[in-house]
Amino acid sequence: MNQTKTEYVKSQEQVRYHTCHWPDCKKQVPPAMWGCSKHWYTLPPTLRSKLWAAYRPGQERDMKPSEDYIKVAREIQAWIQEYLAWRHVK
Ligand SMILES: [Zn+2]
Repeated sequence: MNQTKTEYVKSQEQVRYHTCHWPDCKKQVPPAMWGCSKHWYTLPPTLRSKLWAAYRPGQERDMKPSEDYIKVAREIQAWIQEYLAWRHVK
């Protein structure tokens, strides 16, 4: 692959039903992306870079993300739950 990972992800289009992974966000995003830009940039940079590092171009096609990727994706969901709970308290 001559493309960089960024070029690859940016070139990907919406090819099937796939929504942002933020809870209750119904926004459609290309399967190569985790979520819509609003929610992606709500995540802490450390989690974003971890997910980015674990992402393998094409995993959304063969549906075989690495264990690392799944682990980080779970961490992200846990972070979101805390974030939402904290916002709810405020
Ligand atoms: Zn979203």
